[in-house]
Amino acid sequence: MAQTVSHQGAGQGALLIGAGGLGSSAAWALAAAGVSRLGVVDDDRVSLSNLHRQVIYTVEDVGCLKVEALARRLADQGFSGVVELYRQRLESPEEMANLARGYGVVVDGSDNFSTRFAANDAALASGRPLVHGAAIGLRGQVMTIQPGISACLRCLFHGPPDGDERSCSDDGVLGPIVAEVGGWMALEAMKLLRDVGVPLLNRILTIDMGRSHRRLVSVPRQAGCPGCGKLKAI
Ligand SMILES: [Zn+2]
Repeated sequence: MAQTVSHQGAGQGALLIGAGGLGSSAAWALAAAGVSRLGVVDDDRVSLSNLHRQVIYTVEDVGCLKVEALARRLADQGFSGVVELYRQRLESPEEMANLARGYGVVVDGSDNFSTRFAANDAALASGRPLVHGAAIGLRGQVMTIQPGISACLRCLFHGPPDGDERSCSDDGVLGPIVAEVGGWMALEAMKLLRDVGVPLLNRILTIDMGRSHRRLVSVPRQAGCPGCGKLKAI
């Protein structure tokens, strides 16, 4: 169940899936930019080995639930908006869609393919826009999905890849790439919430920090997409 930490602010705000490196970076940037309502979903606890990439947390937070530690750290930085905490792992698109309907945008900083595709399907079901982000090693990517209007994650990849999934725990990820991707995710959410700039629709931004390289790749919507193919005509 959600716990409201403070009681100011209004508007639909942003729902963050995951309070790890990407989610906490995005939350920090959104709070600093004045987004007055943040929902945060995560059931994990802060661990010492994650602090190099989850830099909002401190050694005092080790062992604490990430959502609670994140709310504390945002308050420490002067955030006076609403933080709604969901101490759970959301895996089904239906659960996620129900929650998403209460927010203006969903920001997915989860660390596994099943949750990323569930977030995609929840966005399509709820009609809420989704900011997708991922990072591993020295590489990352960001893409924004406006359901029924722009390409979704399944237009790009029909579903999670076969075989073993590599994670940040397996391959590592450096703090600067997490900060960059998390910052981009927050920026995309702000574009949608504030109606400024041009969101990353029908495009994916790929970042390779090892080669100091960024690239925008076109992602056209697919008529036969198993995710968004049945929404509005393309
Ligand atoms: Zn699609």
